[in-house]
Amino acid sequence: MDRFTRLCKAKGLKITPQRMAVYEALKNSKEHPSADRIHKQLMPTFPSISLDTVNRTLITFARIGIINVVEGQGDPRRFDPNREDHHHFYCLSCTKIFDFHDPDLEQIRIPDQVTRMFTITGKRLCLSGYCNECRHQKAETAAPAN
Ligand SMILES: [Zn+2]
Ligand SMILES: [Zn+2]
Repeated sequence: MDRFTRLCKAKGLKITPQRMAVYEALKNSKEHPSADRIHKQLMPTFPSISLDTVNRTLITFARIGIINVVEGQGDPRRFDPNREDHHHFYCLSCTKIFDFHDPDLEQIRIPDQVTRMFTITGKRLCLSGYCNECRHQKAETAAPAN
């Protein structure tokens, strides 16, 4: 039994084809998609699925610890299937969010003033800038993206 099935069972969440599809779509994406993005992707297979259903499904997954919500980019809420410790790079141009790992960054010391004020349960660095694709696009021409 995979992690998804196990966690759904443990939390009493019924596994429906739609829920499976939402999870698969998120898991197979490398860019931390929004509910809207996943909804568009599922439309051909599940024409009756609503954006609200996709959104609520993702929030339920996050609540029971199957996925993470990625905070703080001002966009629509974004989701992350990767529950292991890792860091993010956020592209200001295409708004994709990429994962990266770095052992040195895992060692970052939290300042005392912060640990006095808050209980720290996670450490994640989020860098921002331009991804390779966008960087090349900028360099090559001034042609509009897409
Ligand atoms: Zn980009
Ligand atoms: Zn991530």
